[in-house]
This record gives sequence, structure tokens and C-alpha cells, in this order.
Amino acid sequence: MKIIKNNFKGIKEAAEILTVNGVVAFPTETVYGLGANAFSQEAVTKVYKIKRRPTYNPLIIHVSSYQMAREYGVFNESADELARTYWPGPLTIIVKKKKSNVVDLATAKLETIALRCPSNIIARNLIGELDKPIAAPSANKSGKLTCTSPGDVFAKLENSIDALIDGGDAELGLESTVVDCSVQSPCILRPGNITVDQINSCLGYVIAPSFQTVKQVKSPGQQLKHYSPDAKLILNQNKPNKGDIFLSFGPHPKEIDGLTLTESENLEEAAKNLFTFLHILDRLSQARGGTPIKVASIPSNGVGAAINDRLLRASEK
Ligand code: AMP
Ligand code: MG
Repeated sequence: MKIIKNNFKGIKEAAEILTVNGVVAFPTETVYGLGANAFSQEAVTKVYKIKRRPTYNPLIIHVSSYQMAREYGVFNESADELARTYWPGPLTIIVKKKKSNVVDLATAKLETIALRCPSNIIARNLIGELDKPIAAPSANKSGKLTCTSPGDVFAKLENSIDALIDGGDAELGLESTVVDCSVQSPCILRPGNITVDQINSCLGYVIAPSFQTVKQVKSPGQQLKHYSPDAKLILNQNKPNKGDIFLSFGPHPKEIDGLTLTESENLEEAAKNLFTFLHILDRLSQARGGTPIKVASIPSNGVGAAINDRLLRASEK
């Protein structure tokens, strides 16, 4: 695997690898993506294989502008409103798919397509240089911890991908909010940094967050067990004991091993640190023969809803 620098030459080189059906991990503002030319059956097949992702679980198609998105999907009023308000940014919008060169495998043969225009400039320059949409799930093995830093992508995928663009740590740290606008009443399939309240105020009405009923799978990738470390996670633990591995929220208790997601109880900071810290504590747990990781309770307002969604799924065995 080649590590590519984040500069003009590097983006050109990465786009060339994508052109010849290679797979490139690249930064976005949410998490690292595992990119393939969305027009290439060969490249998209590689992505599913590398991730060991079931082919019924569609990929997000990344574009560099709203105009480009409209070539691949039919934007109704809600989708249009959301795209104009939150793009480029951490929001994925599901719309009816238009007939195009995006291979059917990338959208799991559905009649809908998940589109996102990322704000990360490296990601958008890469799409621009390729001059085609990039199909990209998160850069990790299916069901395992998401990677939000180049180091974690390297550690988990070094032997299976062609290249990695080093763009530093992801700014936000959680996967995009996913809103399904292809149905009569739009609903939120995955919570993220753009909160339920923000979506509601943008649309002017209250929409259903379907991710709360996690047993009822609406999105193909919405399995209850997801984002899993090797270690067992025990949630809502506010009184850790000596010898525990503890992921805290607020000041970290003295003489307890572990890390705090945020000293100042800042939910955005906690979101940004969540996966990086879970990778670190997972390694600590393995070194100790599998000690579980205890996690403090996290408030569920704002982006806390998305943090708790990830933790709940990560704790499922
Ligand atoms: P990831 O690939 O890890 O970023 O996850 C993408 C999420 O978007 C998964 O939960 C997918 O199942 C979901 N998704 C992608 N395309 C569609 C679609 N057309 N309809 C419903 N969910 C989708
Ligand atoms: Mg993922």
C-alpha cells in the first residue's frame, strides 16, 4: 500500500489509481472512506471484498457538487432543501436513482441512491480530478470500528488497499447523518453531526428518526451489531473500579486507566475522539487479555444521540 501526501501531485496520483480500478482510502470531514470509481464494476467489487461487506448493503456515492449529484438522483423538494442547506457537509441524502453509469452493485441494485457532497477539500479535489463520482463506504472491515485517522486505516487495511491519502485526523469523527428522502415521509436512517433538530428545522416539520428502533432494519446497513471493537463494551458505567479500562465523559477519575472523550463535556469533541479512543482502548484491552472497556453515560442531546447510537451498536455482541 502506498501512502500519498495531501498535495496537488498526491491527489493526481490517487485519481490515477482510481482510474485504473484501484482502491484508495481518503479523508473526509466525517471518517476515512474507502474509495472506488463508481462507474467501475471491478473497483466496486474490490471494495465489497476488502471490507467483507455483504453486497446487499449499498455504498454512499460521493460527488463534488450538488449539480453533479443531480446527474445521479432525482431531488424532490425535501432532498433539494437539505442539499442546499447542508452540502457540502456531513449529510447523506437518499433519493430515487437516475439511470446512469454508476454500477448497480454500488447501490446494491436498489432503485434508490445515497449521495453525499463532502466538505473536506481533499475528498472534493479527488472527485474533481477523477471527474467521476466515488463510491465509498467507511474505511474499515464491515462491522468493525470505524477509522478516523490515517494511522488506524493503515493498521487495519495496510495489506488490502492500493493507497491511502494522509489527510490527518477527520474533523468530525462520526459517519454522516443519513436521511431517506425517497419515501413519502422522509426519515433519518443514521444519526450524525447534523442533528435531528437541524433536519426538522430545515424541512419545517418533524420527521421520524427510524434509527431508534434499531431492531427494525430500514437501511440495509442498519444492523444492531456494528462499529465493534474486539473488546466487550459495557455502557453507562459511572463508577469504575481500579483495574478497569474506562472511557469517561468529563474529567477522568484519578487512578483509573483509560481516556476521557472530553474534559469539558463538549459533545462535538467527544464525537471527534470516539473512534480513535476506542481503537486505543481496544489495543489496551487486548494487551490485558481481553479486559472489557467500561464507558460512561453520554448525554443524548445534540450530537450525543449519534454517539449513543454508535456505542449501543458497538456494545452489541
Ligand atoms: P458506510 O458505508 O459505512 O458509510 O454506511 C453507509 C450507510 O448508508 C449504510 O448503512 C447503508 O446501508 C446506507 N445506504 C446506502 N445507500 C442506501 C440506500 N439506497 N438506501 C438505504 N440505505 C442506504
Ligand atoms: Mg461504516
